[in-house]
Amino acid sequence: MEALSPFGGTIDRAVAIGLVVVMGYTIIELLVLQFWIRKLDLRVVRMTLLGFLGSGLLSPALTWLVGPLSVGIAALVGAKLSLFQAGMHWVDLIYSLVVYEFFYWLQHWLGHKIRLIWCIHSPHHAPAGIHMAIGTNHHFLEGLVYFPLFLGFLPALLGVDPVIVVALNILDTVWGSYLHLSSEILREGRYGWLGRFMQTPAHHRVHHAKNPRYVDRNYNSITLLWDWLLGTLERLRDDEPVEYGITRAVDDGSYWDVHFGEFVTLYRDLRSAEHASDFFGHLFRPPGWHPGDASQTAEAIRAELLALERD
Ligand SMILES: [Zn+2]
Ligand SMILES: [Zn+2]
Repeated sequence: MEALSPFGGTIDRAVAIGLVVVMGYTIIELLVLQFWIRKLDLRVVRMTLLGFLGSGLLSPALTWLVGPLSVGIAALVGAKLSLFQAGMHWVDLIYSLVVYEFFYWLQHWLGHKIRLIWCIHSPHHAPAGIHMAIGTNHHFLEGLVYFPLFLGFLPALLGVDPVIVVALNILDTVWGSYLHLSSEILREGRYGWLGRFMQTPAHHRVHHAKNPRYVDRNYNSITLLWDWLLGTLERLRDDEPVEYGITRAVDDGSYWDVHFGEFVTLYRDLRSAEHASDFFGHLFRPPGWHPGDASQTAEAIRAELLALERD
């Protein structure tokens, strides 16, 4: 068991406290939605519970078996190979946040732009609504490889101290989960001037939208820096409410449809591929792409809307 807690008691306790905080406000929100506001689809909650069991229990178990490749241990490996080690001075901490957030942006962007990874990330987006339990709903494969690689190994390889890597991972988990607070509980979630710098529930509602304007925007979980720099920032507009979900028709109360439906449609497309380039295109090009036709990708649909508005 030693390999599971290489950082010692303080970090382990911080991870445990982070999880308790997330579970605590998730359960409180579910109770309020069910018994006070009376606006909760219990089939969706059951689906998210299975998703949470997969990503919260099965995924760590598999991660431990095949690696262990957890974020913290991957960070220790990255730090060993790194040529540079940032310290704990406030300048180093800002550097660490900027580096961590870049890799967070990158892994999340890849999850939306490469169809094979989208199959794994899409369960988080499939429900036609948002609340904290939906925030905990992830495919069990999601944390297996690319979280440890992008959120552990690579930041540490660029010199971020492994302890800071884990601390930022806790921060992004706690704040990132909070971003899923439903509009029944928190109507606006814009947080005034803070929303100019930080991801807020309003920003993350945009991320969960399928509206052409909002789709594939706001990838980060803590600040707006990389979304702003890389052109993926979109603010929630008063005149355009969010339509939650994904473009595929999905039964969001069904664990199997939410967590494996995208794999089924990918499998069908792979079987119908006539050329190797089509086959690999289905695997690695963005969702919505079909041989010779990129007009249904999120980028194309959004560009069409913006072009119409410019005319
Ligand atoms: Zn996403
Ligand atoms: Zn989310």
